[in-house]
Amino acid sequence: MRVLVIGSGAREHALLWKLAQSRRVSQLWAAPGNPGMAALAECVPIGLNELERLADFTERQAIELTVVGPEAPLIAGLVDVFRARGLPIFGPTQAGAMLEGSKAFAKELMETAGIPTAQHRTFRDPTAAFAYLEEHGAPVVVKADGNAAGKGAIVALDLETARTAVRQMMVERIFGGAGEVVVIEDYLQGDEIGSTALCNGTSFVPLVLTQDHKRALDNDEGLNTGGMGAYAPLPFVSAETERVVHERIIAATLRALQERGIAFSGVLYSNIMLTERGPMVLEHNTRFGDPETQAMMLLLAADLLDLLQAPERLASASLWHPGYAVSLTLASGGYPGSYRTGLPIEGLAEARRLEQVQVFHAGTALHDGKLVTAGGRVLSVAAYGTTLAEAVERAYEAARLIHFEGMHYRRDIAKRGLRALQS
Ligand code: ATP
Repeated sequence: MRVLVIGSGAREHALLWKLAQSRRVSQLWAAPGNPGMAALAECVPIGLNELERLADFTERQAIELTVVGPEAPLIAGLVDVFRARGLPIFGPTQAGAMLEGSKAFAKELMETAGIPTAQHRTFRDPTAAFAYLEEHGAPVVVKADGNAAGKGAIVALDLETARTAVRQMMVERIFGGAGEVVVIEDYLQGDEIGSTALCNGTSFVPLVLTQDHKRALDNDEGLNTGGMGAYAPLPFVSAETERVVHERIIAATLRALQERGIAFSGVLYSNIMLTERGPMVLEHNTRFGDPETQAMMLLLAADLLDLLQAPERLASASLWHPGYAVSLTLASGGYPGSYRTGLPIEGLAEARRLEQVQVFHAGTALHDGKLVTAGGRVLSVAAYGTTLAEAVERAYEAARLIHFEGMHYRRDIAKRGLRALQS
């Protein structure tokens, strides 16, 4: 089968790596891809938002399945464009991607359907938002309705931070149109986890639960990032909690969408807080998580193409390898703030030689034949182990072999899981 992967990050590199192992895949393309993906696929320089050009290319190459990594093309309606032209694609339509594209839509849907999520109010008028803050008090979480590249949610433990967030989003418009509407929701406490499900209308296949590390620094300090590492499975989540996630969150969300005439297909990836009152949704995404996918692909025993095309036909017992997988983001100095690019990357060959380790490219480029940094998140090191400690140790061993000026990474990936296994 001829398959195209859309995107250029470590998530897409991991998907491509796994697809390349499928006995049914005959040829792979990536658009636009990255230097790591170029070793596995032909990279074509078409941008994520060039919907018609992507469709033209797919038609010309007789591509039989397109897999979309990032949310932007889904929200822009790529799946609708492909479907209208009869081109097979994995992902939700623009209406389904609204679940990620508009927090106000997602919150309203969840509230109407009784899906557990933080209490919230949606505001179009900053004066009303300020008045609500005075009346409600802190802590709260202020969220830009639209997509703000992972920076649109401000956890405000005090009122002044909340006021500043509302002012910046609604008055100063630091996120442009994405902050025109703002959701203010109650602050939840607990373990934050990720649930990924492959959906086909109302039916779904749940994948392994994951935990991401969003903050830049150890002990969940520093600014929010795109994700500094992840691991799976989660030893601290009971089968009963998982069942609640499946029934009250995934199945209920698909039903609620169906009631609005949206048959959701593709990935439903939900950030969930395990609170004292049970699992509650922080947000829904409509694509695979990054860096969760990198760990998941190392853990996946099944053929990814089979999984994407007919997940319900695979026995859940044979989906995953036993053991654990971890991913670790190697980031540019200064990230998630400003950072330099074009810095030479060394040690990749050495890291790749380690067993059960994969190095996925995120923000890299080739300059005069040499690999250099080209983004905030530069590489994602993923490792598998029969124990969680082994997987973690392997990822750090690989990280220690890699070098670029200013490189930083978290030293406490999977700490919560390791603690649970020790107790
Ligand atoms: P963007 O839309 O810009 O990509 P985002 O998707 O990163 O933003 P969220 O996932 O909704 O935004 O929130 C980011 C982080 O903020 C969460 O991972 C979580 O740690 C924290 N957070 C969000 N909502 C709450 C809440 N109600 N209570 C406590 N923490 C929260």
